[in-house]
Formats: sequence, structure tokens, C-alpha cells
Amino acid sequence: MAGLVGKLITKMNQDITNPTKPRLLDGTQLARKLRIQTANQIQTIIDTSGVTPCLATVLVGSDPASATYVRMKRKCCEQVGIKSINREFPANTSTQALLDTVHELSEDDTVHGILIQHPIPAPIDKRAAFEAIPLRKDVDGVSSAAFGRNILGMPAHPSCTPAGIMRLLDEYNIDLDGVAAVVIGRSPILGRPMASMLINHHATVTLCHSRTRDLSGIVRRADVLIVAVGQPRFVLGHWIKPGAVVIDCGYNEGNIGDVDFDAAKDIASHITPVPGGVGPMTIATLLSNTASAAAQQLGIK
Ligand code: NDP
Repeated sequence: MAGLVGKLITKMNQDITNPTKPRLLDGTQLARKLRIQTANQIQTIIDTSGVTPCLATVLVGSDPASATYVRMKRKCCEQVGIKSINREFPANTSTQALLDTVHELSEDDTVHGILIQHPIPAPIDKRAAFEAIPLRKDVDGVSSAAFGRNILGMPAHPSCTPAGIMRLLDEYNIDLDGVAAVVIGRSPILGRPMASMLINHHATVTLCHSRTRDLSGIVRRADVLIVAVGQPRFVLGHWIKPGAVVIDCGYNEGNIGDVDFDAAKDIASHITPVPGGVGPMTIATLLSNTASAAAQQLGIK
């Protein structure tokens, strides 16, 4: 009997916090759609120029997750007709050796995009490596030039993960105009460009990090919450404002996100699953950025 009452109370609480079921923001499905568009764009480039667009991936160190990401990215390249080449370095390589390769790839006209997989192990100067990628080939928006231009709304390839998230929000008609958006995480590849993209879409943005005070209080006010911390189930269900849109960038061991999904799904209006939310969109955006980079370099509209 007590069990039944408990279940009823839980159900009633769910109905109060979120009277409708949360909508899953399906990154797998949207990424598939985007890959088809990119495959068509690649075919047009090949038909027009006779050149096959090429992405160079650069992997430093032996982190198994990074190696898997590079493999997945190269496999997806193949699916849409992008050629890929890979350069690998041991973790103890010198900054200069890495820079030499980035310079060589920059000057190679058959390479249209360069992606250095992060994280890059210390003590390599990762900023120097990112800065060595010329703007036209910076398909992950990691150089300061691309970052600055994106903030100012000037043409440059956007950082893949936040740009993929923006596409996902757009697909589900999430209105960002004037909403309170909270981003947790301020990394140059994710949190910071994410915050600036949201600002450029007229959200009012709070960017949080490890020194932020009263984080749960700030999260509680978010209409749109983006979590990019890298700690499993870091954001708890009761932090989330009822009806909020929740984007979980986390991809921790065991396919666990940075948000407590089981608790959050009963409170949010929309939420990304892990896996199947942000991850596939990151790769799909990389492919579409590479296609755009190739088209620009080959003078194809
Ligand atoms: P970083 O480690 O570079 O950044 C983590 C951020 O979280 C930092 O800004 C840090 O703050 C902040 N942070 C750490 N602890 C706390 C805390 N207790 N309270 C508030 N903020 C905190 O990670 P990334 O940005 O590279 O990645 C974030 C997550 O996104 C990871 O799970 C990663 O796996 C995932 N990711 C997923 C991708 C995908 O395609 N799905 C792509 C890229 C990343 P501070 O700056 O003060 O140290």
C-alpha cells in the first residue's frame, strides 16, 4: 500500500513540476539529416572542381577516448565523401614538432580543414598549435582569430560543439530571445564560444565556472541551461527550473552526462540524452564546416 501511495505522490510531483513529458532533443536524428546535406554539398564540390575535400586530423598522446573520437570523425568523413588524413604524435612530442606538422598541413592545398584533437597533453603549448592553423582551415574555430570573429558575428568557422548545440536548439524552435541562459564551463572550445553564440541570439547569459558562488541558485533561474563541466551527474535535478531546456555536453565514462538525467527529465521541458544529444551534432558540424572550408578555398558558392 505504502509503495502504491509513494508511486502516486511521485507521479503527482512530476505532474506539478512538468505537466507534459520532456521532449528529447535528438542529436542523432538531426546529425543524420545534416550529414545528408553535407554529402550533397561534397558531391557538388567534387562535380564542380574535381577536387575531393580533405580533413587532416592531428592526434597527440595515447588517450584512448581521443583516439576513439578521431576514429569516429574519420569514419563519418568517409560516409559523406570527405577524404581524411591523420597525423599522430606521442605525448612527449615537442611543441615545435607539432607546429612543423600544422605548418606543413596549412601549406598543403589538398588539405582543406585541420582538426587538432583536444585535450593536448602538457607541457605542449596547445595555444601555439591552435594559433598555427590558418583561419580558412580552422574548421573547429579554435584559433583566436576564429574565436574573435565569431564573437563579433564576422565570418569564420564556428567551434563545432557549441555550433552543433545552436543547430539543435533551432531545430526544436527553442526561442532564445531575451531568455535567461546559464552556461556552466568556460573552456575556449566549449563554454566561452557557447556563451557568445547565445548572446548573439539575444539570450541574457550567465557564464559559470569553478569559482562561481551559489551555482545551484544561478542554475535555478535558467530558462536554458548548458552544462559543460566534465563531471558525471554534476547538475542535480532539484537545481533545475521547471520547464527549462537542458543541454548536457558531458560525456563521462560509462556514457554518463554532466546532468543527472533521470532526475532532470521530470523537470525540464526539453533535454538532450547522453549519448545521442550533443556528441553526434559535434561531428556533423565538423563535417559541414569542412565542406564549407573546401567550397570557400575552391571558390565554389
Ligand atoms: P574543460 O575541462 O576544459 O572545462 C571544464 C569547465 O568546467 C571549466 O571551465 C571549469 O571551470 C568548469 N568546472 C569544473 N568544476 C566546476 C565546478 N565544480 N563548478 C562549476 N564549474 C566547474 O572541459 P571541456 O569544456 O573541454 O568539456 C566539458 C565537458 O564537455 C566534458 O564532459 C567533455 O567530455 C564534454 N565535451 C563533449 C563534447 C561532445 O562533442 N559531446 C565535445 C567537447 C567536450 P574553471 O575554468 O574555473 O576551471
